Amino acid sequence: MEPIIGIDLGTTNSEVAFIFDGVVDVISENDKGIVPSCVGLNQAGNVIVGLEAFNQALAAPEKTILSVKRLMGTAQQIKLGDSVFSPQEISAFILKALKERAEKKLKKPVSKAVITVPAYFTDAQRQATREAGEIAGLQVIRIINEPTAASLAYESSNPETRRILVFDLGGGTFDVSIVKIEKGVVEVLSSTGDNHLGGDDFDWKIVERLAQEIQAEHDMDVRKDVTIMARLKRSAEKAKIELSAAPFSVIEEDHIAKKDGRDIHLSFELSRIEFEAMIETDLSRTMESVTKAMKDAAVLPSAIEKIILVGGSTRIPMVSDMLEKKIGHLPHSEIDPDLCVAVGAGMQAAREMGMKGSGVLIDVTPYTFGTSAVGEINGQPTETKFIPLIRRNTKLPARKSEVFETMYDNQKAVNVQVCQGEAPDALDNILLGNYLFNLTDAPAGSPIVLNFDLDLNGILKIKAIEKTSGKEINAVIENAMSRFSDQDLVDTQNRINGIWSGKDNETIDGDFEIIDSADQLPSKYEELINRAMAKISEAPEDDRDEMINIIEDIRDAATGKRWEDADASCAELDDILFYIG
Ligand code: AMP
Repeated sequence: MEPIIGIDLGTTNSEVAFIFDGVVDVISENDKGIVPSCVGLNQAGNVIVGLEAFNQALAAPEKTILSVKRLMGTAQQIKLGDSVFSPQEISAFILKALKERAEKKLKKPVSKAVITVPAYFTDAQRQATREAGEIAGLQVIRIINEPTAASLAYESSNPETRRILVFDLGGGTFDVSIVKIEKGVVEVLSSTGDNHLGGDDFDWKIVERLAQEIQAEHDMDVRKDVTIMARLKRSAEKAKIELSAAPFSVIEEDHIAKKDGRDIHLSFELSRIEFEAMIETDLSRTMESVTKAMKDAAVLPSAIEKIILVGGSTRIPMVSDMLEKKIGHLPHSEIDPDLCVAVGAGMQAAREMGMKGSGVLIDVTPYTFGTSAVGEINGQPTETKFIPLIRRNTKLPARKSEVFETMYDNQKAVNVQVCQGEAPDALDNILLGNYLFNLTDAPAGSPIVLNFDLDLNGILKIKAIEKTSGKEINAVIENAMSRFSDQDLVDTQNRINGIWSGKDNETIDGDFEIIDSADQLPSKYEELINRAMAKISEAPEDDRDEMINIIEDIRDAATGKRWEDADASCAELDDILFYIG
């Protein structure tokens, strides 16, 4: 059968997908599925495409073309070296690279493709895309809309009628579409967005902050120096990407500039909170577009059955948070947001080849993992607000960090709880582990970074770091995912307790004490300890330290089965609780 490939011809990046043994997959080369949509001329005057062209963009901007997709359908001429090209011709170089990638993998010639375009593309832009394909030696069997492709990637085998919100935030463009799927037929009901909003804008905001920093510290304006700005842009993007998984990122650029014969080095720590403040206005604008798209499609948030995330910038956690708040349920990102459109194009290509119901291979966590902290639930203050770190349906492996703060001066310890569940109150979720982290004497508000790392085998690694001292604790929970099913919570907890009582599978290092989960302590002790932990932040400072010591005594005594000692310590703790009311 003649192969048909699916192509996502993106503004920043492009990919090619194909169906292998019934499963659609993006074709990688050197472990990379993504090809930067970048065309250039190398020193020898030969055309280069993808990463090679992207890497020379800094050094040879006059010989490199980026974001040609923005010019599709226009009559603009593009100068590259001594020659002039149309946008279709430049796009054809990218398509040729993708075609060759597919041919190498399939070991046969490829001459047919499905190519995706944004839903807002005009006829002229679609026609230009078709022409680009033909120039590249590809017969374009179908042009499909990007949100349609994304919906196909998720829903191709679902027979039910569904309304889906596709939120696509890439490097330089933003679209939101409402898509309806009915009996396998996909219809874009509305589509809106901003052609000039994306991750690049967020990078430039960080660059501006770095330029301010250099100016304040060295009285030097670097904004007009193209090379310095290009270096800052790369560091800014790296930091931005790190901040999607970590609460802080350190930007280091040695020898970034020279002043009075002296080298200037940059070292700047950016927090996620600061970054989020920088991009909040932009993201609020995207939410306004969501409202507009729903209005145009005449659907209410309650009618949206699924939210799909597309584009690298949707990995910024604030995007999911805002969407969840607005629509009322969690967005899906289990198919890599960078590859989702290509996968959908591959699905359509498979359909054109007469294959139906092609699946996609994805490994996701079926559960949310998080911790508990002081906060508010429905406007009411609580000690046990569930803070999700790794959300249900996140693609594995997944890593996520959050920052927490100590409550009071000289706090001796924090109780790090690891829970699984979806309830807003951590007490309603399943306790997987409970770790006491002894701290150095630090003022209230000292940051503690909690890091969760969940791999494909369901091993959940936990690390807590006291940021000021660098002190850390580590723990591993084996089989974090496979231990539970969706049965009744109590049954599940009992089962976990059974497994845990015979466990020897926690790895511990660092200066900390593992408090085994509830099963290890008789419930009367556990209840008292939970009561004490809930009250601890209200207690006078001396009593807090005393309470922590007593809790440790109870645990020590119970672990050593010294029940009298445990009871005596319980009585002491009870007295304090009575006294503080
Ligand atoms: P796309 O156009 O869909 O390929 O998206 C590219 C954009 O996604 C670039 O601006 C990247 O910096 C951004 N991006 C990729 N990964 C992440 C991440 N983990 N967090 C935030 N932005 C990201």
